[in-house]
Amino acid sequence: MDLSSPGTVKSIREKYGLQLSKSLGQNFITDRNILEKIIEGACVEDGDMVIEIGPGIGVLTAELAERAAFVTAVEIDGRLIPILKETLSEYDNIRIINQDILKTDLGQIIEESRQAGRFTGKVHIIGNLPYYITTPIIMKLLEEQVPADSITVMMQKEVADRIKSAPGSRTYGAISVAVQYFCRVTKVTDVPKEAFVPRPKVESTVLNLEPLDAKAIELKDEKVFMRCIKAGFAQRRKTLLNSLASAGGMDKDKVKRILAAAGIDPGRRAETLTVEEFGRIANETADE
Ligand code: SAM
Repeated sequence: MDLSSPGTVKSIREKYGLQLSKSLGQNFITDRNILEKIIEGACVEDGDMVIEIGPGIGVLTAELAERAAFVTAVEIDGRLIPILKETLSEYDNIRIINQDILKTDLGQIIEESRQAGRFTGKVHIIGNLPYYITTPIIMKLLEEQVPADSITVMMQKEVADRIKSAPGSRTYGAISVAVQYFCRVTKVTDVPKEAFVPRPKVESTVLNLEPLDAKAIELKDEKVFMRCIKAGFAQRRKTLLNSLASAGGMDKDKVKRILAAAGIDPGRRAETLTVEEFGRIANETADE
């Protein structure tokens, strides 16, 4: 069964009476070139494990199972589970979990699979993401420090642009700082609307994120760092002093002390700060 053919998608929908859910971002890939590019971008090899976010009807899952030792696919929509069981029936190296990715303990899944001897190589997180929760998914992967060797995900082009933005840019935000602190960001490919059924309203981009060995600054506490960047950007127009005080829940004297110790002018705005400067603020906050 060629799962990337629009005809197959249509016949599966008819057979199962499946109405695709817009709110769950159900736009399925129907372009083999894009599937190839995602897999190449992720550098999946023989002994590796893949966690796929949102398998849909399994078009990418099947290709991943051809290359990797083991694939765990996490899909929230229970209606797709019997379909996936049928479309992926020829593979014995796929586990499907009917769960919300945001509530899934990925570290535990990886550890269990390693201990069960399901794979011996690297761990890749791959997905054509549901666009309504792209940012929460990426923040979760970073916040929980999921032990993955690479993350290769398709998202709305605007979000990819934000992730790659530099300080001073209008699109530079909490997600840019978080991703750029932990990862090297590489664009794999842009994807036109025509590569999906049904067609989404927006253009897409696949990014590859690889954990950096040498970070811009060593952090005392990653969670404090994430809290600081979220608070800093919570109200972009405000000065750092005001946004860290109001969104960060700290009194202004304390924020002034932290910024002075970090050598940052309290009148600056979050969008002007480098990743390293946010790291300094986080380390001083952790010390307070
Ligand atoms: N991988 C398939 C493809 O490329 O054709 C489907 C991708 S589609 C853009 C996104 C998929 O994520 C859908 O199958 C949708 O049901 C699923 N999804 C949406 N929200 C989810 C969540 N919170 N957790 C897990 N899967 C989710």
